[in-house]
Amino acid sequence: MATVDILTVGYVGERVAGTVSLIRDEHVIAVVDPGMVSSRWTILDPLAEHGVTPEDVTDVIISHHHPDHTWHIALFPNIRLHDYWATYERDMWTSRPAEGYELSDSIRLLETPGHTREDITTMVETDAGTLAMTHLWWNANSAGDPRAFDVDQLNHHRDRVLKQATIIIPGHGAAFPAFNAPV
Ligand SMILES: [Zn+2]
Ligand SMILES: [Zn+2]
Repeated sequence: MATVDILTVGYVGERVAGTVSLIRDEHVIAVVDPGMVSSRWTILDPLAEHGVTPEDVTDVIISHHHPDHTWHIALFPNIRLHDYWATYERDMWTSRPAEGYELSDSIRLLETPGHTREDITTMVETDAGTLAMTHLWWNANSAGDPRAFDVDQLNHHRDRVLKQATIIIPGHGAAFPAFNAPV
């Protein structure tokens, strides 16, 4: 089983920050969506509190390509980077579909377009249940998505994730139970 810790809870309004998460499982130490935050220490301080240095991080996963979820990727010098269509490591670009891709026994990716064409959801098996890190929801109140490029696809993938997940960690807010997901 993996463990998940939220490093910083995102928000959206006059200012915007993404929710940044830490996943640990076996040999994997992954940061999800190291994007826009008030300062890099908003990511690095909580990481240090968990005993993890930037050099320790093995993988970064980005939910999609908007800067509010990608800005701080380069804080982590030793990573494999994962997005919707490839894994990148140093100067190697390995194309692959994200759907079903496994970083470990407990961490897998789903292709969940809707907000953009390039959205993925990170599914993690933990003792607390199955967690979904996803931009399908902005936060616990985001019934819709005013920026969605395709609302039908968004709703389709929301349904799909809700069938598999116990807890949703949204793009710009705190975690909420899947049964409480706004629709
Ligand atoms: Zn976005
Ligand atoms: Zn966002």
